[in-house]
Amino acid sequence: MSSDPPKPGSPSRPPPSDASAPRGVVLKGIAGSPGVAMGPALVVGDTRTAYTRRHVASAQIEDEIARLKTAVEEARRHVREVSARLPAGPLETSGILDAYLTMIGDPMLIERVEQKIRDEKKCAEWAVAQTCDDLSKLFLPADAGDRDAYIVERRHDIEFVCDRLLRELSGDTKVIVPRLDQPMVVIARDLSPADTAAMVREPVVAFVTEIGTRTSHTAIMARALEIPAVVGAADALSVIRTGDIVIVDGLRGQVIVNPNDMTADDARNRGARHLAFARGLLSARNQPCVTRDGDPVSLKANVELPAEAILALDHGAEGIGLYRTEFIYIDRTTMPTEDEQYELYRAVVEAVAPRPVTLRTFDIGGDKFASSFQLPAELNPALGLRAVRLALSRPDVFLTQLRAMLRASAHGDLRVMVPMVASVQELRDVRRLFGQAMQEVDAAGHPRAKHVPLGIMIEVPSAVVIADILAREAEFFSIGTNDLIQYTLAIDRGNRSMAPLASPFHPAILRMIRQVARAANEHAVPVSLCGAMASDPLAAVMLVGLGLRELSMEAAAIPEIKEALRRVTTVDCERTAESALKLDTADAVEELIAGTFAPALFDLLDSDDDAYDEGRPTPTTVTATPETAD
Ligand code: PEP
Ligand code: MG
Repeated sequence: MSSDPPKPGSPSRPPPSDASAPRGVVLKGIAGSPGVAMGPALVVGDTRTAYTRRHVASAQIEDEIARLKTAVEEARRHVREVSARLPAGPLETSGILDAYLTMIGDPMLIERVEQKIRDEKKCAEWAVAQTCDDLSKLFLPADAGDRDAYIVERRHDIEFVCDRLLRELSGDTKVIVPRLDQPMVVIARDLSPADTAAMVREPVVAFVTEIGTRTSHTAIMARALEIPAVVGAADALSVIRTGDIVIVDGLRGQVIVNPNDMTADDARNRGARHLAFARGLLSARNQPCVTRDGDPVSLKANVELPAEAILALDHGAEGIGLYRTEFIYIDRTTMPTEDEQYELYRAVVEAVAPRPVTLRTFDIGGDKFASSFQLPAELNPALGLRAVRLALSRPDVFLTQLRAMLRASAHGDLRVMVPMVASVQELRDVRRLFGQAMQEVDAAGHPRAKHVPLGIMIEVPSAVVIADILAREAEFFSIGTNDLIQYTLAIDRGNRSMAPLASPFHPAILRMIRQVARAANEHAVPVSLCGAMASDPLAAVMLVGLGLRELSMEAAAIPEIKEALRRVTTVDCERTAESALKLDTADAVEELIAGTFAPALFDLLDSDDDAYDEGRPTPTTVTATPETAD
C-alpha cells in the first residue's frame, strides 16, 4: 500500500509495484451501468476539501459574505462549463447538472450560510460545511441509516454542493480527475455528476465507486454515457491501487483486480459480446413488441427526471407508464408552485406526444423523504403517512399538483395515477378533489383535456383483495410490485440482507398478480405492471402468462424485454404460468420458468444484473474474495 495518503482532489500516486492488490481479488458491488471493460486503475482521493475553522472579526463579515457570493457564482460557472462540454445526446446528464446549478444558487441555502457568518462569526468555509451538515441531517431519519437509496442520494446531492463551494472557497477548483493520457478505470469513493461529466472527453473506460446504488447519479450518468460502472463496491479504495489492472463487469456488478490471462480474455469476450448484443437490440427498438403467436405487449418507461423522457423514446418506449413526481418535491424546502409543476409536466407530455404519459401523484413519506413536507417522525414510516394518505391530509398541496397535471393534459395524452391506495374510500376522496381541481382549472380559464383518466397503483395487499371493487371506480390499474412484495412478504424493500427473500416469483405474488389481472379484465379496466420485476426477462414472460399485456420499466431494459417477448409464444407463457401457480416455493417457480424459457432466452439471461428493485439498493456483498486460483 502507498504510505502517502492521497491529497484531496488529486489522484493518488502510482504505488511501488509490490503494493499492487493480490491477483484476482473479486469485489462485489452493484451493476451500475452495463458492459464489461478492462484497464489500469486510477484511484482518486476523497473529494472533501480540508478547511481551517476560523472566526472572523465583525469588521470582516461583509468581506466574508462577498467571498461566499463569489464562490457561489464561480461554482455555478464551473458547473455550466462542464455542462457545455458535454456532447449532445445524454440529456439526463445535463438535466442533473441543471438541478445542481439550481441547488448551488438556492437562496435559502445562501441565506442560511450568510446567517451563520453574521450571527456566529464563522468563516465562509465553516459556515458552508455546517449548513450542509445541518441539511444532510434532514435526510437522516433516526432509523434509516444508509438503507434507503432515495435518502442516500439526497445526502450525496448536498455533499456535492458543499464540496463544490468549499473547493471554490479554497481555490482548489479542478475536477477530481485530471487529464488522462491513456484509457483508465476511475476508482473513487463517489463521483459527483460534474466529475462524471468532465470525464466524457477523457479516455475513461469504466467507473467504480464505493458508494451509490443503481439510482445514484453516477450510475444514471454512466448509463447515459454508455460507460460500464460498478457502484457500491465498498472495499474498492482499500483494495485497488493506481496502476492495478481492473475488470469492471457492469453486468454482474463485480470488479476483478489484476486478473489472470484467462479471466482477462473472458472479460474481453464478454465485453465485445455485450456491445454487439446491445447494439443489435437497440437497432431493433422500433420493431413492434409482439409475441411469436401475435399478441402485442405494450412496453412503456418508468421515468423520474423530465430529461429521461427522451431517453425513453430512444429505447423504443410506447409512452411513459410511470412518471414518479416525487423528485419535484425533494432537494428543496419550499413547495413547488402550480406553474412550475405545470411547465415540467407539459414538457414531458409534449416530448412524448402523441404517446401517453401516466403521471403519478406524489408518493412522499415512508422511505421517500422530502423536507418541504416537514413530515412527523414515525416509528414505522412505511406503514405511516405516505403517498395517498399524505396527499389527502394535505389537500392544499395535493390540489396544486392535480391542477398542474390537469393543465398539462391540454398538451397530450395524460393520465393521473394515485399511489398506495388501500381502500375504495381513498379513491373516492381523491376523485372528489380531482373534480374540485378541474373546477378550479376551468374557473381560472386554463385549457385542459375533456377527460383525464384517474387510475390507481395496486401495491398494497388490501387493494389486491378488493381489486374487483376498485375496478368499478378506477379507470386503470398499475401493479407496483416493489411495494406489493414488501407489504405482502413483510420484507423491508430497503433492507439489503433480506433482499434474497423478496422474490417476485413467490407463489403469493404470482397469485396476487393473477387476481388483479383477472379483476381488471372482467371489468374492462386497463392493467399494467410497473414494478422493477418487469425488467427481468424471465419475470416478463411469466407476467404475460399471468394475463398482462402492458409493462412499464426503466428505459434501458425495454429493448431486451422486447426481444425476449418476441421470442416466446403467449400460449407457452400461459401454460407455464398455469403450472407455476400450482407450485409451492419461489425457487420452484423460478426453476420452472428458467427451465422452460432459458433455451430461447439464454443470451438475454447471461447477465447477473439483479434489478428486481430499481429504486433500491440491490443485494450486494462487499467482501473481497479471491478469484479461483491462477
Ligand atoms: C412499486 O412500488 O412497484 C412502484 C413502481 O413504485 P415505487 O417503486 O415508486 O414505490
Ligand atoms: Mg410503490
